[in-house]
Amino acid sequence: MVGIDIEGLATVYPNGVRAVDGLDLSVADGEFFALLGPSGCGKTTLLRTIAGLEPASEGTVRIDSADVTRLEPGKRGVAMVFQDYALFPHMTVSENITYPLKVRRVAPATRTAVAERTSGELSLQGLLERRPGQLSGGQQQRVALARAIASKGKVLLLDEPLSNLDARLRLEARTFLKKLQKDLGITTVFVTHDQAEALALADRIAVMQSGKLRQLGSPREVFARPANTFVANFIGSTPMNLLTGTVASGGSVSIAGGSLPAATGSVPVGAEVTVGVRPEYLTLSIGDVSGPSIRGSVVVAENLGTQSLVSVECDGTLIGVTVPEEHEPDPGATVVLTASESRVLLYDKESGELLA
Ligand code: ATP
Repeated sequence: MVGIDIEGLATVYPNGVRAVDGLDLSVADGEFFALLGPSGCGKTTLLRTIAGLEPASEGTVRIDSADVTRLEPGKRGVAMVFQDYALFPHMTVSENITYPLKVRRVAPATRTAVAERTSGELSLQGLLERRPGQLSGGQQQRVALARAIASKGKVLLLDEPLSNLDARLRLEARTFLKKLQKDLGITTVFVTHDQAEALALADRIAVMQSGKLRQLGSPREVFARPANTFVANFIGSTPMNLLTGTVASGGSVSIAGGSLPAATGSVPVGAEVTVGVRPEYLTLSIGDVSGPSIRGSVVVAENLGTQSLVSVECDGTLIGVTVPEEHEPDPGATVVLTASESRVLLYDKESGELLA
């Protein structure tokens, strides 16, 4: 079982920046784990601290149950792929892939066998004698992955593995990476600032802000039930509606233009809250509906492909709702929005933490 256990970890740079600020998390054996957050939140620093490339200032890192906090990178059993791939330009693909084995004085015949096997796994057959400059971005990325895998690390650490690829290649590489990780079953931590990439690839996601963990959960959990308004804002290709509301009686919450059903739990009637509801979870109708609803008029509709994002003005507040493209209402139309109770989340107005 090769897991990673991080306890009370802090990484403080000499200039005093606490890039990682008291983190606890565990990555399970064989898990594909994403570190996600905006630029500067500390995700690269965390990855580099796991790798041993930055010293931990506080706390511990355990890999495969062994405390590696003070071990040098080469002794931790990790293989890292850097954002720019860090391939050696003067070496062939084969030499690049087997470089870590050469350093360990593995015999040339074994190295050749490893290069051949790994290039097969990573669809690099026929390219072994080329140099990195003669490869496409996607091929270079696969060489970097091949080198990491050939090094037989117990865990794979990937820093923004797809960010240097263009949009089409990135999708292809994403599918490839997910399949490879599952086939190899190697515990993998990858850093990304792209929430769509994290949702698509990861078994679980750690969302970070200012060196701290803001939520840890499956893609489904962080999308459907963000633990706070920071995560609510950060996750999702269309932003979550975050609206000012007041808890009303009978399991509903009043907001601009009407009300929505909500499981108010222990939040008292009359409490002012921030109401979170995703555009995907609102239903748009023309004409009356039964139960709590919001009424407004369509301002604009944006085409998202098969869906349209419709902006509805409700008593001076804009609310986004996605509808199938063929049901896009005309600007100016009066519409009614509803949602099921489980999709309406209540956040503390001050702290932004999920209440119910
Ligand atoms: P990005 O997505 O932009 O790479 P990140 O989430 O990976 O960002 P880090 O690169 O880990 O963030 O940086 C976290 C914080 O630490 C930032 O405030 C950054 O300015 C600071 N930082 C990073 N490297 C150093 C360094 N070598 N010395 C001092 N401060 C640093």
